[in-house]
Amino acid sequence: MPAIAKPVRKPIAKKPAPKTTTKTPHRAQCADLAPDRIAAILQGLDEAYPNVKCALNHNSPWELLVATILSAQCTDVRVNMVTPDLFKRFPTPEAMAKATLAELESPIKTTGFFHNKAKSIQGAARKIVAEFGGQVPQTLAELITIPGAARKTANVVLGVSFKKAEGVVVDTHVFRIARRLGLVKGDTPQKVEQELMRVIPQDRWIDFSHQIIHHGRQVCDARKPKCDRCNLEQLCRSKDKTWQS
Ligand code: SF4
Repeated sequence: MPAIAKPVRKPIAKKPAPKTTTKTPHRAQCADLAPDRIAAILQGLDEAYPNVKCALNHNSPWELLVATILSAQCTDVRVNMVTPDLFKRFPTPEAMAKATLAELESPIKTTGFFHNKAKSIQGAARKIVAEFGGQVPQTLAELITIPGAARKTANVVLGVSFKKAEGVVVDTHVFRIARRLGLVKGDTPQKVEQELMRVIPQDRWIDFSHQIIHHGRQVCDARKPKCDRCNLEQLCRSKDKTWQS
């Protein structure tokens, strides 16, 4: 009688242990980004700053583009002091494209970094004349090819002059306050803009930036925020708070 072959036992494949991930959002972060909390912040901004508008004086997209380039590392008040004379001397991109750097530097000296700013506005004028028929282009992709105009400047011009929301303006105020309010965690303006584009409804992108910029100037100061006067205080859990209700 032939021996009965013993059944071959296959090893039982072990189930892989469940992976732990650090990508799971922290409970506090989920709470910070809850739709009703975002809506409450937007409502608070609407109540505090109902008629926001760009603080840079301008009469055309071209003037706004130049003023925004000049506003780097400078206050809007200071820019508004120099632009009337600048645009009187060089009213169009064509006129500015023909100006020498020395001619452009003179009226913008008090805005700081005037050598670089003169190069930027001269370069912007020449590019707009040569490649865009003397008109400020209306897309982000085109605007960011203009000397001196990175995403922030492009978003300002698109939002204010053309009512187009292709991105969110992230200046020093938006960067600081979006983080204080727990809306973002990014540590660069680029990351903060991408996060804001995810959490703020697109139809609020333009007003949101202007409102936050006003809030930064009037209430949420970088060094000493006036939290006792802030209508967002109950929604804010920033460690920078100077007052708690
Ligand atoms: S409570 Fe204070 S820190 Fe928070 S947004 Fe208001 S002013 Fe800024």
